[in-house]
Amino acid sequence: MTSSDEDGLDLAGLKRKYAEERAKRMRNEGLGQFVDLDSQFGHLADDPWSQPRPRDPVEEDVTVLVIGAGMGGLLLGAEFHKKGISDFRIVDKAGDFGGTWYWNRYPGCACDIESYVYLPLLEETGYIPSEKYAKATEIFRYCKSIAEHFELVDKTLFHTGVESAHWDEEALRWVITTDRGDRYRARFLISCTGLFNSPKLPNIPGVMDFEGHSFHTSRWDYQYTGGGPNEPMAGLRDKTVGVIGTGATAIQVVPSVARTAKQLYVFQRTPSPVSYRGNRPTDPNWEDSLQAGWHQGRMDNFTALTSGYYVEEDLVDDAWTDIMKTITPSKDGSRSISPEELELAEMRKMDETRRRIDTIVDNTQTAEALKPYYHYGCKRPTFSDEYLQSFNQPNVTLVDTNGRGVERIGKKGPVANGTEYAVDCLIFATGFDFMTDHSRETGIDIRGTGGKSLSEHWSNGMRTCFGIQTHGFPNFLFISYAQSGITYNYNHLAREQAGHIAHILSQGIKQGIATFELTEQAEREWVDEVVKLAEPRLVFLDGCTPGYANHEGNRGQAYQTNVPYMAGAFVYFDRMAQWRKSGDWPGMDVKKISELTA
Ligand code: NDP
Repeated sequence: MTSSDEDGLDLAGLKRKYAEERAKRMRNEGLGQFVDLDSQFGHLADDPWSQPRPRDPVEEDVTVLVIGAGMGGLLLGAEFHKKGISDFRIVDKAGDFGGTWYWNRYPGCACDIESYVYLPLLEETGYIPSEKYAKATEIFRYCKSIAEHFELVDKTLFHTGVESAHWDEEALRWVITTDRGDRYRARFLISCTGLFNSPKLPNIPGVMDFEGHSFHTSRWDYQYTGGGPNEPMAGLRDKTVGVIGTGATAIQVVPSVARTAKQLYVFQRTPSPVSYRGNRPTDPNWEDSLQAGWHQGRMDNFTALTSGYYVEEDLVDDAWTDIMKTITPSKDGSRSISPEELELAEMRKMDETRRRIDTIVDNTQTAEALKPYYHYGCKRPTFSDEYLQSFNQPNVTLVDTNGRGVERIGKKGPVANGTEYAVDCLIFATGFDFMTDHSRETGIDIRGTGGKSLSEHWSNGMRTCFGIQTHGFPNFLFISYAQSGITYNYNHLAREQAGHIAHILSQGIKQGIATFELTEQAEREWVDEVVKLAEPRLVFLDGCTPGYANHEGNRGQAYQTNVPYMAGAFVYFDRMAQWRKSGDWPGMDVKKISELTA
């Protein structure tokens, strides 16, 4: 790439600016700058949506035990239903289906990827979302309808947190215990614990000393704020509110709070790139025009366009996919995009995002502070037609901390840039653990052969094949983002993994397999391939402003391995399809029940 392009972008200058902004945000603590809600602020992690009913502990033998009733668990349950696997139990610490859509009910919460590609199983259930970007309430309802459609309701236990899962080498069963005193024995164990399941707070002094009211966005307190996800929050009319964080969640929260709070302070460490959203009701003519297979086609189209492949037609046509429009199409329309072309397109996209701010935000100082200076993809792109506009309201103040963040929480409120901002209510939009450590994120003690824990096995980073199984843990599979095909549409990936996992289990059951276990060699080969393919990504992430994608800028061992499979989603899907086609369990040690009893 040259130092400036034909649009007049000063590419070299921008890269220098990106590096300066990154340097401001680098902190030695890395991931240590956060604490989990569960571990230290138990009361803030409480479920605000439903209370467990008393019940007796369950002792049960099942063929499959599934941990998690979010999108992964639902997709898996649907695949089981299709394949006739019926002896399974799903457990979840939440009070209903939905996972992230159970917990996150903050005002303004909605899908930020088009619902026609994000919501799974639309053709199977015959459902069409009511809007291009469905609201969280609709998505939560849809999750419950998936469960009903695929007859998962009676198979699921809620308000039940798995505490441990240990492989019994004698019995060849997983023994699973829960916080409700249950004890399961399962032939197969599947973990679908999701990506953003462990809320975190900044590990700054004073969080417990704050005298006002506080909560995390994933545990919204409507008793305090009044209103509901799509209703005004009357309880905030006479309140001064602080929101810490400006990630994808805050972008959705801020406009709703701004509409009702007497005064709102938004504490910003790093601005998000905010593109247009363009939500609209579903067009009934479009709905009528859909042909069988449309959903798969649209998901593929979105994943291709957002993964750097050139595709002639942009079916989704929104601010996620328009990045490819800045790339001149090749004549034959078949090639994929070169890294240089992609980088240039991304520099232009970020420039456009910054220029958009000037057209919306009246105060020039605020507008300048809201401009993100880092490479596209370092942080989650966001979309809103209301967030930037909020800062034109007289009751909304951006407290930009120039990359330093809130230093501490005083008795009256957050301290930033040396000033204490007195607030009645403090809302932590500070995110979740992401791809760090399975046990840290889930709190589950998983032990395989020889009593070895998963944390021990992964102490130098994740070790898997296809991101779904690991050596030393027989009959154990999981849905995961790490070491598996990269796409912004998690449900596309989860659906492929769920299909693959259900295939393995149905074959295992049909063929009378007692145990299957990933070989050490297959694990090593996959990890080596993942790490090698990720080298350019790590160079990219090294240059990124700190965030969850690059473990807050701190390179540890896990940083090299807990990465997606960078050959891309389609190659990944194809590799799994080839495995299924081969039919002879390559890369796994398999023992049949008949061999053991002979
Ligand atoms: P993020 O981790 O993206 O954002 C956390 C925010 O807290 C960041 O702005 C961070 O700043 C800020 N922060 C942390 N510590 C401090 C501090 N000491 N002072 C000031 N600010 C601080 O979490 P989100 O909940 O916003 O999003 C998590 C993910 O959830 C998204 O990336 C997305 O994948 C998903 N999501 C999906 C949605 C959907 O519709 N599908 C909607 C919302 C979220 P900094 O950037 O400097 O670290």
